Amino acid sequence: MLDTPDKVRPCTEDAHGGNQSSKFADEYPLNILIADDNFVNKKLIEKILQKLGYQADTASDGIQVLNCLDKKNYDVILMDIRMPEMDGYEATMSIRHMNIEQPYIIAMTANVMPSDREQCLEIGMNEFIPKPINLNEVITKLRIAASFCANRNKGVFFLNPTESTPRY
Ligand SMILES: [Mg+2]
Repeated sequence: MLDTPDKVRPCTEDAHGGNQSSKFADEYPLNILIADDNFVNKKLIEKILQKLGYQADTASDGIQVLNCLDKKNYDVILMDIRMPEMDGYEATMSIRHMNIEQPYIIAMTANVMPSDREQCLEIGMNEFIPKPINLNEVITKLRIAASFCANRNKGVFFLNPTESTPRY
């Protein structure tokens, strides 16, 4: 590889440590599905994931999510709660009853009350990202998701060591 002098260094480098972020996906390879009925939100998340080096698939409601899972295994689903046809809660409950390699499901919602978070976890989601979504939050949650996926094949995964039941 040629040594690039500083003055002609590609402009992909930014204030956050150069083009490091695009290598994130190399370090944490994940198949990601975005589920959101709002086009603008979906595009925003797609862009954030592209920055990190991911080409995510997209769905607009819970039924489309289930259809995607019929065709492909996903490591992570970024799941909007409020969607037409089938919402994020219902889709998650269906997924948890499917005989597949279980994805790490991250709820996305503008409802940020502690009770909303609890409800997400209770019905089988693994994590929660408040809207509007930001890059740093996504990075943090994807790191946790990658750890989940790495341990998934070992049988159990404890997000919190004090938990008595594994999350799946
Ligand atoms: Mg929605």
